Amino acid sequence: MKFESLPKHFFHSLKFKMLVGFVLMFACIGMMNWISMDRLQTFENTIVHNTQEQLPIMEAASIIQIQVTSLSGLMTQMAESDSQAELRIVSAEINYLLKGLAQQLERLSDSESTEHLLAILMKLTKSLEATSHIQNQHIIKSQQVAKNIKLILSNSLDSMENGSLLHRQIWIPISKEISLLSSSTKLFEISASEKKIKRIIEKYKASKHLLEADDQALLQQIMGDVGLFYQLKVREEKRKELSSITTQNQILLDGITEDSLRLFDQKSQEVQTKANELISTIDQTRFNYFVIIVFGLILFVLSLLYLKEILFSRLIMLSNLIRSGNLNKYDLQNFDLKNEIGDIAFQLSNYLTTIDSQRNQLKQASEQLANVIKFSKLRIAIVQDEQIVYHNQSFPRLFDRTEMRNVGELPAEISKAITRNGLIRHTSSIILKSFYSESWQRWFDVSSVTILWEGKESSLISLVDVTDRENAAKEFKETISLVEKESQKDALTGLYNRKIYASTLDLLEQQSADESFAMLVCDIDNFKAYNDSYGHQSGDDALRAVAQTIASFCQHKDVALRYGGEEFLLVLFDRSPEDVSDIAQRIINQVHDLNIIHKTSEFKRVTVSIGVAIKDEPTVTHPRACFELADQRLYIAKRSGRNQLIDQSTPLELEG
Ligand code: GH3
Ligand code: MG
Ligand code: MG
Repeated sequence: MKFESLPKHFFHSLKFKMLVGFVLMFACIGMMNWISMDRLQTFENTIVHNTQEQLPIMEAASIIQIQVTSLSGLMTQMAESDSQAELRIVSAEINYLLKGLAQQLERLSDSESTEHLLAILMKLTKSLEATSHIQNQHIIKSQQVAKNIKLILSNSLDSMENGSLLHRQIWIPISKEISLLSSSTKLFEISASEKKIKRIIEKYKASKHLLEADDQALLQQIMGDVGLFYQLKVREEKRKELSSITTQNQILLDGITEDSLRLFDQKSQEVQTKANELISTIDQTRFNYFVIIVFGLILFVLSLLYLKEILFSRLIMLSNLIRSGNLNKYDLQNFDLKNEIGDIAFQLSNYLTTIDSQRNQLKQASEQLANVIKFSKLRIAIVQDEQIVYHNQSFPRLFDRTEMRNVGELPAEISKAITRNGLIRHTSSIILKSFYSESWQRWFDVSSVTILWEGKESSLISLVDVTDRENAAKEFKETISLVEKESQKDALTGLYNRKIYASTLDLLEQQSADESFAMLVCDIDNFKAYNDSYGHQSGDDALRAVAQTIASFCQHKDVALRYGGEEFLLVLFDRSPEDVSDIAQRIINQVHDLNIIHKTSEFKRVTVSIGVAIKDEPTVTHPRACFELADQRLYIAKRSGRNQLIDQSTPLELEG
């Protein structure tokens, strides 16, 4: 029973499933690549951002710190400087630093901070210019004060040298106070000294100790409107002004420091944040890779298991089913008939069903054949490897036996024929031999045909009684050869006719070189006249008599034939030239001696003329040339008067 094939479905095919597997695998690889590329891009962006944007700002911020520190030192140096030359040098250095600072501030590239810091720097620059100016004035004032103190002290000493004791009593404490003033810088100390000196002067004024005019001038230098104390106060005011502007400068500088520090901190925090982000990105990437690899492995294992389920286990099942040689519709339920393996299983089940039914048919055919053989009139035997594995009952009876097992038990000629042809693999029957059974006195054809007997290649030997056919054939053959012979003979003379002429020439062609032959061409003289004189019947009788005379010289292979009306050819083998000429002469003589009366002939009886040629003559290159030469000589014999022979010994002039 054949099963119906199911329609094929693409989504069930192994092709589709493998495609899905490949797509998933490629997706995994693609995802890993995508993650790698994305992460690398992030790393690159961060590094580029840090190196191109953050780090220069941080570098500028730290340079600003250093510059601010230097500037602070220079500002202190400027505040403490007491010479104009030093002040100029310090101012120049400060200007240079301020320019550098401006450059670094530009680098910060943070618009808001940069603008703010540049504004502070502008203020600081102006303030420092003012500071330098005030410091310069302070130095000038200090120098004036020192110069005045020196002058006052020298004048007071002069006054004391020239003055009275009382005079000295006034000027010594004043000089002392003034010399102390050169080192005092505080405003309250100056005021205290002024009060002290005023008290001294008041005290002496009160005790009527009037001061001299010189003393008055000196006092004016000390206490006057633009005297020493006035100068000291102005200097102190400058110093105060300087102090406050220095403080302001310091504040501005602190502002820059603070801002740049803040910026540095901010940027370093940003870098730190980015670094942290990177670290977390790396961790995330690592985790993603781990997830994808685990997913890929699970996918791989699942694919293997699935492949095992749909392919390998089905193949093993299929191979077991093939080995068992049985695949029924229940087995087919284990396969998905919509995919390729299912299709193979399905085709196989159909093949197995077909083979099964063919095997049954073969078995039936074997049984039928055995029955046919058993009851056949033919004598049949099955031969396998020289063993007769089966025969019907009539087979051994032919050899006077009831049973035969081996080919050797058969008559030798048959067993030889069978074994000799045992290897021939023919499906059609071949006749090995015709066999004559003495005991049965009949002919049998032994024939063989190759067949499958019980699944093995064997020879079916059959013996067919062909006695009737053999007898008929024998009879037919005999008749044929008789008819054939008769057809080659001339009915009138009994000699061979012209039909044999061509085959005789062929025979002579094939002769070996050392064999010799000779040809005698004989013609009855004036035979037309004989017929005319005695009638056709008498002519026939004369022909017969001459023919018999010629034929009487035939020995062994020699051939005598009538190839024309009254012309004969005698072919002689292995004779010497002398013997040949002798035979020719004897024919002429014997015909003459027949004494057949021929009144119109000059010899008054029937005579013959003969032309002779032999193989060894130079012009005889082939048998036909030999005949032609003999025929020419016959013509010469006729011309020379008839009743004679011409051979190679005849003089040449006669032949010509
Ligand atoms: P030559 O001596 O030159 O041979 O003269 P010829 O008369 O024998 O030669 P020609 O060829 O002229 O004549 C041959 C004659 O032989 C003619 C024919 O009447 C005769 N002849 C041929 N066949 C037969 C035959 O079967 N029977 C009879 N009776 N005569 C025959
Ligand atoms: Mg003739
Ligand atoms: Mg003749």
